[in-house]
Amino acid sequence: MSDGEHHDDNGGMHALDHGAVRVDWSHAKGAPATPWAEGPDPADRAMLDPGVPGDLDRRPDVLVVGGGVIGLAAALFCRRAALGRVLVIEAKRLAAGASGGAGGALAPDLHQLSDPPAFVQLARTSLTLFRDLDQEWDGALGLRWAPRLILPDGPPPSLQPWPGVELLGADQVAELEPDLAPVPAALLTTDQAQVNPLRLAAVLAHRAGGVATGIAMTGIQVAGGRIVRVRTAAGDLHPGTVVLATGLAPEPWVQLPQRLVQGHLLATEPGPFRLRLGVHGPGGGVGPLPGGGLLAGGTRDEGDHSPHVRPEVVASIRRRLGALLPAARDVRLTHQWCCFRPATADGQPVIDQVPGLENAWVSAGHDGTGILLAPATGQALASWIATGNRPRQVNSFTLSRFAQT
Ligand SMILES: Cc1cc2nc3c(=O)[nH]c(=O)nc-3n(C[C@H](O)[C@H](O)[C@H](O)COP(=O)(O)OP(=O)(O)OC[C@H]3O[C@@H](n4cnc5c(N)ncnc54)[C@H](O)[C@@H]3O)c2cc1C
Repeated sequence: MSDGEHHDDNGGMHALDHGAVRVDWSHAKGAPATPWAEGPDPADRAMLDPGVPGDLDRRPDVLVVGGGVIGLAAALFCRRAALGRVLVIEAKRLAAGASGGAGGALAPDLHQLSDPPAFVQLARTSLTLFRDLDQEWDGALGLRWAPRLILPDGPPPSLQPWPGVELLGADQVAELEPDLAPVPAALLTTDQAQVNPLRLAAVLAHRAGGVATGIAMTGIQVAGGRIVRVRTAAGDLHPGTVVLATGLAPEPWVQLPQRLVQGHLLATEPGPFRLRLGVHGPGGGVGPLPGGGLLAGGTRDEGDHSPHVRPEVVASIRRRLGALLPAARDVRLTHQWCCFRPATADGQPVIDQVPGLENAWVSAGHDGTGILLAPATGQALASWIATGNRPRQVNSFTLSRFAQT
């Protein structure tokens, strides 16, 4: 990025208008209605939309742009790294995007078969951090142990266990989960967890430093290889360091091949079934909710940029649910919603310094695993800012990998 003014002068929310990928949010001003809203206690819930404080810090040491889980975790770890005053600005309300609508699965093992080792390692580090934070905060995160069954993508030979994961035969699966439709085999992964993503956002927000909602970053001014001014709807800010955590990287300031990938989820009432384990199969997943209902779905609806729930997608999740758990075929739904994964062209996140800018970092494109990766990402960013050295565990998540393709 070269010196000079880089403004979105129409005052629009540039980061939500990603070239050809425009989501019409006009009917969806807040987070989607999910079962998660019942999770945070009222004081924490108020943290999600504090508005703009009268004494807004216009010269924070660290400015985090974007109040999803990645931005909030970055803010938390910047504070813990003693980087000075931290301010998070969010265009809407905290966790208004994918971070408030996600499934909340913290499941590194699900990625063992599909993602590179560096990704799985970062995911495992993050789950450990989740556990440490929850313990340190006396259970404030409400982390639940959530073992899962991974169902075969084909005949049983396609299921090869790895250390810590057990291969179960049909009888063992039936014994564990008698209400599940018969399956030939499954992998049992036990080192997994589950979190209410809205509760996570609220708990992080409490510890993130200053938080201002309803203000979008609309422009950046660069001088001498540094961001010297960030324009916002509430006036100019002059941060020492900037972390861009806007879901998709904010174009035109950071360029990479990226897109939004819609996903649908649904929640059900309790019913005449029992399911103790999460079940993850080729067509999506289903898992137990604390009150006895189920959480199902996690579709990938590529190319759909409408914020409206599509009945045919909900119907397909229900069909899949009925096939997995026949007693849940007619269960009543309590919630159905969709939201958008910020995704890069290779499905891996970006955690990097912005090229040409000595005081700006970006973390974007966390796709279907941003909740899981939030603590490890936040910790890596804070460590990099504090020491000037790229942490080894984020070596793979560069922007430059797209320049090579
Ligand atoms: C259906 C579905 C299920 C999922 N399930 C899981 C799961 O089980 N486990 C898991 O780990 N992950 C899951 N995910 C993925 C996860 O939700 C995302 O990876 C994660 O929320 C991304 O977080 P983020 O903070 O990067 O982005 P976001 O949540 O999109 O937050 C970015 C924020 O930046 C704000 N912003 C944008 N531009 C500006 C600007 N110019 N100025 C100020 N603010 C701005 C936005 O308003 C937004 O609030 C799921 C996603 C979907 C869609």
